[in-house]
Amino acid sequence: MKPRPFDYRRAATVEEACRLLAGPAEARVIAGGQSLVPMMNLRLVSPALLVDIGGLAELRRVTLAGDALHIGALVRHRQVETDPLVAQHASLLASAVRHVAHQSVRNRGTLGGSLCHADPAAEFPACMLVLEATMHIASSGAERTVAAGDFFRGMFATALEPGEVLTGVSIPLAAARDPAALHEMSRRHGDLALAGIVGRRGLGLQRWAAFGVEDRAVRLAQLEALLAEEPQAGEADILAALALDLPSTAGAGNAGRAKLVIAADLARRCRDDIYRGDVAA
Ligand SMILES: Cc1cc2nc3c(=O)[nH]c(=O)nc-3n(C[C@H](O)[C@H](O)[C@H](O)COP(=O)(O)OP(=O)(O)OC[C@H]3O[C@@H](n4cnc5c(N)ncnc54)[C@H](O)[C@@H]3O)c2cc1C
Repeated sequence: MKPRPFDYRRAATVEEACRLLAGPAEARVIAGGQSLVPMMNLRLVSPALLVDIGGLAELRRVTLAGDALHIGALVRHRQVETDPLVAQHASLLASAVRHVAHQSVRNRGTLGGSLCHADPAAEFPACMLVLEATMHIASSGAERTVAAGDFFRGMFATALEPGEVLTGVSIPLAAARDPAALHEMSRRHGDLALAGIVGRRGLGLQRWAAFGVEDRAVRLAQLEALLAEEPQAGEADILAALALDLPSTAGAGNAGRAKLVIAADLARRCRDDIYRGDVAA
């Protein structure tokens, strides 16, 4: 299929992008186009105006800012995989990206696009939860920040309001450098996850999240409490904690229970990697 007709504008500044997005036409940002274009072709979405932010070089940078690693929204998956600052300070992201699609998609898809698309099975939203990232959002004449935990609102839904652009994310260096791991199960390598778990062990704390199971990436508070108390908890205890953390999955009959068992195995593998000192994905 082909998309419905739409207008196209290439923004020269973030301010211009926000002004165009806040206008009367139903508008959408286009970044890498790897999710948006297929959705438009299938007519799942039909924006009247596409605002191309691809020329905004300032959103394509990875920088150290104080005690945080700042990654611009237009940083492509491939750059996350190869950037020396990401490798040095946030190796979880560098390894997680290897699960994201295939090289051709990674060459064009952007971190910001993945976060704003908010696919429940995507890896980066769950990584942002465990790394306790802060999302930087611009609108015409204003900026605000939202904690990752408040950003993902449901399937393909985020805290972004009309007229807003995600400009980047900041990850506290202390969190980014902690031992962390990600494991997922997918039909074929590069497919979106059927279930995935990501975990981080900080100083006296645990941060865990699941993806591909509920309608969005979710923090696993019960699992965090269990592993803080008993780091070597067995799979049955991990499964019981996940059943509390993932109520929709637990209540979804045999398919849901199968996902929980898979998630418990993935969580055990992450835990083992983290306690071996590996950062693995
Ligand atoms: C074959 C295939 C396999 C894939 N497999 C995976 C996978 O395994 N894991 C995974 O996580 N992803 C996967 N993806 C999705 C891929 O990672 C996309 O690149 C990503 O989801 C969207 O990034 P993008 O830059 O292409 O965004 P776009 O497609 O341009 O935009 C996606 C959405 O985000 C909005 N948006 C984009 N940037 C911004 C911004 N800065 N501010 C506000 N709104 C914005 C757009 O308006 C749109 O609604 C796959 C895609 C394909 C085609």
